[in-house]
Amino acid sequence: MRTKKTPLFIGLSLFSLGVAGAVLSKITPMISHDERGAFYVLLILLILFLSLCAYMLFYAFGQKFILFQTIFEHSNDAISIVDEAGNYIWQNRSHHALFGLELEELQNRQASFYINTKEVWLKEELDRIKEFSGIFKSTSKQGYKDVFISAFRVENDLGDTLCYVQMKREAKEYLRIIEKSQSERERILALAQKDPLTQLFNRNGFDEALQKRLQEGKNGCIIFADIDNFKTINDTYGHDKGDKVLQGVSKLIQANLRGSDVIARFGGEEFVMWVEAELEKSADIAEKIRQSIANTGIESLNITCSFGVSAVEKSALEEAIKRADEAMYRAKKSGKNRVCIS
Ligand code: GH3
Ligand code: MG
Ligand code: MG
Repeated sequence: MRTKKTPLFIGLSLFSLGVAGAVLSKITPMISHDERGAFYVLLILLILFLSLCAYMLFYAFGQKFILFQTIFEHSNDAISIVDEAGNYIWQNRSHHALFGLELEELQNRQASFYINTKEVWLKEELDRIKEFSGIFKSTSKQGYKDVFISAFRVENDLGDTLCYVQMKREAKEYLRIIEKSQSERERILALAQKDPLTQLFNRNGFDEALQKRLQEGKNGCIIFADIDNFKTINDTYGHDKGDKVLQGVSKLIQANLRGSDVIARFGGEEFVMWVEAELEKSADIAEKIRQSIANTGIESLNITCSFGVSAVEKSALEEAIKRADEAMYRAKKSGKNRVCIS
């Protein structure tokens, strides 16, 4: 609902000028010539003071009101407002565009709706449950439309009803928004759990995937791998080459593990794996990965890794990762490119 404000302002200003002129013409003859100067000064001061008050009042209340009205009018949601007696008193332009009905027609055609073929009155339903939402059939100029409606009752501080508000979207559009936000949620969740360089799990993803395995009662071991002399590779061939080496190592690790195993890059050149196997078998798997990396030219370079292996005792994951890390450092100290068991 739009209002034309400019003609109203001009009308009010002309009216005020007319009233002021009439009052002045009556008062001026009553004042002696000597006092007229002081009277006009006082009058101007009074007008300035009243203008300031009017401006402050507008600033405090009017501006907010105009802002709310503009937001309401421009909302993409179709919004309608029903007063405390159950009469439609307002609809925004999206509402008008969606249903093609004037306010009086809304009253006749949308004051009730159907829930499982039972006719329910909007006001009575909202008095009963205060708010509801769902997809309902709603009448429009062109016939019935499937519409998502979110309706609620607005109360003052004393709990008296002020009005009832309905926000609506065409059901098709609403479902499209939901679908989009679900896939966006999945994308963000995946991002939060993946290392962007290798697409392996990061620490978060690793913890979550492993908690699931542990809750299922599965037993396994941690393999901690760290690329040997990686800083030298970066320093000699550049960071980009280093990144490609990280991707190459990640591919070789994946090629040597099963889909049910969990692989992560914890940061830098450190990879952590969980394999569903006993300690001895896990050490064999680590050895197989070690050989695979050492015997394959990655980015035409000879790359080696040091490994630490430890068993995860009963859900003590942190502890197992720490022990595998310590075992890996022993492998480094003993000359690198080897597997040590915790
Ligand atoms: P050590 O054999 O004892 O493991 O020595 P190192 O050189 O492999 O280990 P160090 O911890 O000294 O260096 C690791 C380097 O890894 C330092 C850092 O710049 C580099 N690095 C960390 N993250 C990345 C990355 O995402 N990409 C690349 N290219 N380099 C990284
Ligand atoms: Mg290293
Ligand atoms: Mg390291």
